[in-house]
Amino acid sequence: MTQNLSPLSGGIEIGGTKTVVLIARGADIIEREQFPTDDPTTTLERCVDRLSDWQSRYGALAAIGIGSFGPLSLRPDAGDHGCITNTPKPGWQGTDLLAPIAARFAVPVGIDTDVAGAALAEGRWGASVGARVHAYITVGTGIGAGLVVDGGAVHGLVHPEAGHVRVRRVAGDDFVGSCPFHGDCLEGLASGPAIAARSGYPSHSLTADHPVWANVAAELAELAAMLVLMVSAERIVIGGGVANGQPQLLPMLRARTAALLANYVPAASETLSTIIRAPMLGDDSGPLGTIAIAELALARNRKHAAGHELGSQ
Ligand code: ZN
Repeated sequence: MTQNLSPLSGGIEIGGTKTVVLIARGADIIEREQFPTDDPTTTLERCVDRLSDWQSRYGALAAIGIGSFGPLSLRPDAGDHGCITNTPKPGWQGTDLLAPIAARFAVPVGIDTDVAGAALAEGRWGASVGARVHAYITVGTGIGAGLVVDGGAVHGLVHPEAGHVRVRRVAGDDFVGSCPFHGDCLEGLASGPAIAARSGYPSHSLTADHPVWANVAAELAELAAMLVLMVSAERIVIGGGVANGQPQLLPMLRARTAALLANYVPAASETLSTIIRAPMLGDDSGPLGTIAIAELALARNRKHAAGHELGSQ
């Protein structure tokens, strides 16, 4: 067995209901602990304690990555950089995730959305290895998308919020939609709660041949086609609690995406089974996403330090 030379990294994945803290070398997870997400102080303290324990057992961490539910302020020049912004989750609005961790560990700390982390991890170790432009779409309680270009997650004004794009409806579908902001945006039509509202049953209890899946596949295909057309995505990984339990969705989604593209992008039409895929890292896309975020923070820090050295010569 070859020795794993990846840096020892810590990761904190904060979800709406559960938090995962872990340490890893690359994709090799050494320790992890999962617990229900409590109030911000309790949750972050528990993560700090765990990482400190592991550090004394396994050696100094080189970097830490935080992947969190959003929306997050990620502009480095913003006063609230590293904070959760306008979340409806009680007690979490305005929470600074970055500072309390950075104050306790003298190592580079990176932060991104959990879904950007999942995209980065699939690009580093999973289904999107070798792709320059790739996305990860999570279909669960909400719908989110992380977009990666040349190894970095796309941030701009904020971060992509592709779950809230408005998509063309299936003819005859008059479901009002469940998004509190937009009604029938993609999340309002095809997330877990939307599927439950449309069908009357929780999504995990629906059989593979339930008619609602045709709607979900058609709506997700709108986003998949957009990603191919707008950013020339080479991989679109479909994960999340709803999608992972319904393997029939992927072939339906590929067929609908092919119909939407109508051979306009021949490279895509020929390879949709390669482009639209399940996560190769399974349920570890999110936790390993924090490790990918940590490694990027470390690389940025080293580049910065090298720049300073050059500048001082
Ligand atoms: Zn919406």
